[in-house]
Amino acid sequence: MERHVTDNAEATERLAAGLAASLRAGDVVLVSGDLGAGKTTFVRGAARALGVIEPVTSPTFTIGQRYAGDVPVSHLDLYRLAGGFDGEDPGLLEDYLTPDAIVFVEWPDVAGGELDRVALRVQMSHAGGDRRDVLVDART
Ligand code: ADP
Ligand code: MG
Repeated sequence: MERHVTDNAEATERLAAGLAASLRAGDVVLVSGDLGAGKTTFVRGAARALGVIEPVTSPTFTIGQRYAGDVPVSHLDLYRLAGGFDGEDPGLLEDYLTPDAIVFVEWPDVAGGELDRVALRVQMSHAGGDRRDVLVDART
């Protein structure tokens, strides 16, 4: 487990970019933390480093996006599903969790055991002002 403190959004993006260098197709990165903790900012920095050019924003009306990069990059935000998977299409995540893609998941706890191939677990939390604690647990 590594612990980092970032002082602004750019520092979180840089940290994510550095971590992205060790990712490969099929890897899943779980990004947890409260609203505004910087999860999407982290994903943006990683996606940029993976060659994604289009804007990386929170998927609002869908649970995810797929971006073209050096490899396909999927970005899931499961917040909308916090009530549970009941009544949802069981194939909902399939389009994003493809073995050719590197996959980032915000609010991953919602998915329970659905997410395997986890390469990194990132836990972000507010540490006062623009500071954020970023705990990174790498695949062992
Ligand atoms: P989340 O996806 O966790 O809800 P976002 O990444 O969408 O959070 O938003 C985080 C907000 O906090 C952004 O407005 C970002 O600019 C700001 N921010 C300030 N300091 C930091 C930091 N150290 N790391 C990440 N984001 C930060
Ligand atoms: Mg977000």
